[in-house]
Amino acid sequence: MTTVANPAFPELVAPPAWRTVDLISDLHLQAGEPATFEAWQGYLQTTPADALIILGDLFEVWVGDDAATQPGEPATFEAQCAELLRRTARRLPVFFMHGNRDFLVGPAFASQCGLTLLDDPTVLVLHSQRWLLSHGDILCLEDTEYLKFRAQVRTPEWQAAFLARPLEERRALARSMRVQSEDRKRNPSMVWADVDTPAARDWLQRANAHALVHGHTHRPADHDMGDGLRRIVLSDWDVAAHPPRAQLLCLSTAGAQRVDLR
Ligand code: MN
Repeated sequence: MTTVANPAFPELVAPPAWRTVDLISDLHLQAGEPATFEAWQGYLQTTPADALIILGDLFEVWVGDDAATQPGEPATFEAQCAELLRRTARRLPVFFMHGNRDFLVGPAFASQCGLTLLDDPTVLVLHSQRWLLSHGDILCLEDTEYLKFRAQVRTPEWQAAFLARPLEERRALARSMRVQSEDRKRNPSMVWADVDTPAARDWLQRANAHALVHGHTHRPADHDMGDGLRRIVLSDWDVAAHPPRAQLLCLSTAGAQRVDLR
């Protein structure tokens, strides 16, 4: 429970010129899923939004910023993503909040791409409305085993020790952790934790916000939590699925609107 104790609720105050802000999360980009990468590329090149906020798990895994600066041809998948983000960030501001898969995205990658890193949670103040943004994993209080793991891997000591390993070793470790997590997913007794409603309401009240927008659970929905408080869950992306999933949430004076890109 200590993980949700006392966030500071920093604010991102949108300049008056921003009419629309796009929110995306959980694309789980990886070299083996080119269709989703291409949909994302097409989206970045054409979005009319005034700003883009990525709420975590953009990448299936991130083993260190050096993966995006490895020399050689062809460019690494991470380097291709970096180049796309860099071009996008020249056109509109791009913000990035960590997910549980890409929590190792660091200041070097942010600076390479022109991204602004956001704390989890952050309050987006847009047209005098206050939207509370989070990846969502810290609010899944029933997932105690994961929260223990999260607390461990978010320490500077753990991260420094991991990043000190050679890149290929980190890639191999990430692959083996993914196999373990796939095994866990196949366990029929596994119950997927969801965002805890009292904790979400508590955050909203303390942040003086009316809606929590988060990803992580891959259960897109708009929950009415009473007292005018809402919890809006973003969709994950998987363009190879049937039907394909590639959706963003567009915030404007009209409120929050889902836009399907496929
Ligand atoms: Mn996640």
